[in-house]
Amino acid sequence: MPADTRSPGAAPDHDVIVVGAGFAGLNALHHFRANGLRCVVLEAGSGVGGTWYWNRYPGARVDIESLEYSYAFSDELQQEWTWPERYSEQPDVLRYLEWVADRLDLRRDIEFDTRLISAIFDEQAKRWTVTTADGRRLTARFCVMAVGFLSATHWPDIPGFARFEGELVHTGAWPQAGVDLTGRRVGVIGAGATTVQLVPRIAPQTGHLTVFQRTPNWCFPMNNMPMPAEYESRVKAIYPQIRRHEHEVRGAGVVLVGFEVRLPSDTKVFDVSAEEREREYEARWADCALHVGGSFGDLLTDQDANDTLRDFIERKIRSIVDDPGVAELLIPKNHPPFTRRPCGEAGYYAAFNRENVSLVDVATDPIAEITAHGLRLESGEEHELDVLISATGFDAGTGGLTRIDIRGRAGASLKDAWASGARTHLGMMSSGFPNMFFLNAVQSPSAFFSPPLLGDYQVRYIVRIIDQLDATGSAAIEPTSDAEEAWVGHVNDVVNATLLPQANSWWMGANIPGKPRQVVAYAGGFGEYRRRAEAAFDEGGLREFVLVR
Ligand code: NAP
Repeated sequence: MPADTRSPGAAPDHDVIVVGAGFAGLNALHHFRANGLRCVVLEAGSGVGGTWYWNRYPGARVDIESLEYSYAFSDELQQEWTWPERYSEQPDVLRYLEWVADRLDLRRDIEFDTRLISAIFDEQAKRWTVTTADGRRLTARFCVMAVGFLSATHWPDIPGFARFEGELVHTGAWPQAGVDLTGRRVGVIGAGATTVQLVPRIAPQTGHLTVFQRTPNWCFPMNNMPMPAEYESRVKAIYPQIRRHEHEVRGAGVVLVGFEVRLPSDTKVFDVSAEEREREYEARWADCALHVGGSFGDLLTDQDANDTLRDFIERKIRSIVDDPGVAELLIPKNHPPFTRRPCGEAGYYAAFNRENVSLVDVATDPIAEITAHGLRLESGEEHELDVLISATGFDAGTGGLTRIDIRGRAGASLKDAWASGARTHLGMMSSGFPNMFFLNAVQSPSAFFSPPLLGDYQVRYIVRIIDQLDATGSAAIEPTSDAEEAWVGHVNDVVNATLLPQANSWWMGANIPGKPRQVVAYAGGFGEYRRRAEAAFDEGGLREFVLVR
């Protein structure tokens, strides 16, 4: 890579620098290149995959059907690839992305082991200069941040981690070589989706496994299975229809229910009899229970409606967990189902019936400190551990961006600009940061949709913006502050009309001390998102953006 010895007037090294080689970054590289843009991808890891590269903890698995959680842009790819399971494990998702990278010859434009530390916009030259951790500098007209929605790992503010003499790992940066848990005393801090996947997988291996839980989450059986051949061929035969539906559904990108294409229901909970409701919950529970969220249209807006689902799931938990005291601890008391990210489970609740698994309530007796040989609770109770696993999540949506020193017009830093809350237009651009785009980021449908599909739409949208700039002889683009304000307001209004703000969740930014309380993703559905994004292109022109010639 060349050193930064060019004169300011020289052409930039690249048209586009993409940061991150996960689902979105690979898609971006493919499409930008196909559109004649000179593009390089900078990737911190030694391979492609993003989330699926870093999250190698045992049990990591996608909880959207693999036939959907995959690229839609090439029928050839989606017909050719064969998923071994209905919900694929991390190694299979990673294998898929490696296969796509090879199939589309993407690796030749990816710089691996290259972590970006800063990106500075030069207002005169209208270009970005980025600096990597090993001191190299590159320039480009556009910078596309595909750094991942859940990539900035969060360590809890508990004193003493450095003191621990056993093995210490974060699930979001699981060692490539793995961790030997055989016969060892293992502690897991956290009770989110990651812990829910990890625990049943490692429990049989460990000597003793202790889960330190502060807040229980609602968990839903996944009913995973080897991919039924007939199902796969049926889906492949109607892929265009499925992909069309995916772009029209309100909520997450789940349309395959009971092996049928089905949109979330609009029927209200109390429009049907109690028996009918129970039948609907049971049917969805037996298929993939996460789909139970789509049973009725008012589960997230009407507390009484939601209470019927709460009652249903509470009964399920009590029927699985043998010890009534443990079952009570596992039942969330302070948030209704689906107001925090639901967890897909495959033996999590049942794992607490094992002799070698225990649950410790650290809401009533918090972790005071990590010690050399384990951890100590505030009551003084000590837990000796050989391995301590922090399954404590991420600084979602913004963390991947604000941990990089990004400076836009007049040297303004993105981190400072977002100190009292993220501000974007469509979750794709931010005023004051010209020619920088975000993929699958804060204030886009991201967490409430299917990331590969959202990235697909956003990449094409950026291509259209760049075409428009070129067609009008413009050098730079950023959203108007009015458009941005309207978008931020809309994102917040939408979530405030739901039950979601009731919960202290990472969805609301509540997991990171000091982070402004603000929903991290757009909850209005991908259909509405797309409608608004299209409206920003008015009769072929870009209405909600400022173009600089
Ligand atoms: P998470 O949901 O943010 O959970 C973090 C956990 O750490 C919470 O239980 C939290 O407790 C706990 N915690 C934090 N600080 C603590 C402290 N000082 N003491 C005790 N507990 C503490 O993180 P995650 O489980 O890694 O999941 C993050 C997201 O990644 C998921 O919601 C999901 O979107 C995604 N994910 C997806 C899949 C999948 O689709 N298959 C799998 C895994 C993860 P509190 O709740 O009390 O704060």
